Amino acid sequence: MPPHLRSAWWRTLSALFLLLAAATLVGIAIDQVGAVLAAAAIGVLAWHYWRLRRVLLGLTARRRWEPARGHGAWNALDRLLHRSQSEMRTRKRRLLDMLRAYRAAAAALPDAVVVVDRNTQRILWFNRAATDLLGLQHPRDVGAPVAERLQPLPMAQWMASGRNAEPILDAPAPADERLRLTLRLIPYSEDYWLLVARDVSKLLHLEQMRRDFVANVSHELRTPLTVVHGYLDMLDGEEMPEWAPMLAEMQKQSQRMTQLVEDLLTLSRLESRESLPEETVAMAPVLATLRREAEAFSQGRHVIEVRDLAGCDLLGSTRELHSAFSNLVTNAVRYTPSGGTITIEFSRSADGGVVLAVHDTGYGIPAEHIPRLTERFYRVSSSRSRESGGTGLGLSIVKHVLGLHQARLSIDSNVGQGSTFACHFGPERVRPRHDQQLQGVLP
Ligand code: ADP
Repeated sequence: MPPHLRSAWWRTLSALFLLLAAATLVGIAIDQVGAVLAAAAIGVLAWHYWRLRRVLLGLTARRRWEPARGHGAWNALDRLLHRSQSEMRTRKRRLLDMLRAYRAAAAALPDAVVVVDRNTQRILWFNRAATDLLGLQHPRDVGAPVAERLQPLPMAQWMASGRNAEPILDAPAPADERLRLTLRLIPYSEDYWLLVARDVSKLLHLEQMRRDFVANVSHELRTPLTVVHGYLDMLDGEEMPEWAPMLAEMQKQSQRMTQLVEDLLTLSRLESRESLPEETVAMAPVLATLRREAEAFSQGRHVIEVRDLAGCDLLGSTRELHSAFSNLVTNAVRYTPSGGTITIEFSRSADGGVVLAVHDTGYGIPAEHIPRLTERFYRVSSSRSRESGGTGLGLSIVKHVLGLHQARLSIDSNVGQGSTFACHFGPERVRPRHDQQLQGVLP
């Protein structure tokens, strides 16, 4: 017990003893010890009840009350209660202020923020931006089912995927068709979800401008390049032997520029598409063409193996898939020294899908470069890439083509041992192979 409480306690006890002693003396004086003691005890009890009542009243009081000033135990209790109550009030006020500040901050956010009850999928709260971007109205939409209120957006399926919900990257705003939104679902507790919508119209517009710019520049470069390339082809090195090395270099560089422009145009074309026309891609002829291309590109410097183990075809765009696979095959030849082996394998995967893997026994790629390989113009060794005629865009094209087929690229590599680039397609892309088709085109 702290010293001030101990002294208060002793004071109360001493007062009680003094009172009882005084009562006993008075009792002796008037020869009524029992009656006077009983009266004193009842008086003390009544006083204690009265103090207890004061404490209870103080505890339940809505308004501030003055603590008692005296020295006894009841007064000490009064002061203690008063202190803890005012501390609690201050803490409550601070918490409320903080809560208000958070609410004000969330309300003022430029992104739409909606708190959704996870079980009932109803709207609990939303900020001002949710009115502008999502068309939610206060107080009408508080308590409304979120899927119904944000109707054109595919809320129901999206929310059904819960914690695994992928962000919706580009959707028209329910309040204004011209605005584009990115939506994110954040399950921040067991019971509540946060739905955050951001206006990305400007960003998408800029992205579109960038794409158009690259496409236009590439397109504009195509014609002058064709002319330069044409004239260079007409010049014969044998007729002007002193110019021969320069002519050969100019032809090589103009060829490279033409390839660069073509690759940039291919990328722009792929980027501007949401999907590709789909057909059954006959894999046997595709594999046969890949073999021929690899052999032509390698010019006998490598062993080329093709293994067709899947025995099925693919659903997709023949042209784009062929261009993606062809990029992987030319890379394998390009980055494998003479005498190496390139293996093209088409096989089934464990999940019922198929994999087209291009394996080489070439230089390999250090692990730190692998995550960035599909970025435009990213090269492990610029000199080696340029020397071999690479544009630095091949794997970007592969990634885009696979993305349009909901497929993914995996890269495994060991420096000095070789690399495997594999395209993984889901079971929904697998199509049975027709024998007639096979017989018609196979060499
Ligand atoms: P590039 O036209 O330069 O080959 P890509 O986008 O096709 O551009 O490839 C990017 C880089 O990835 C290449 O510059 C090269 O460093 C590396 N790379 C691609 N394929 C292979 C491979 N089979 N073996 C080793 N490195 C490779």
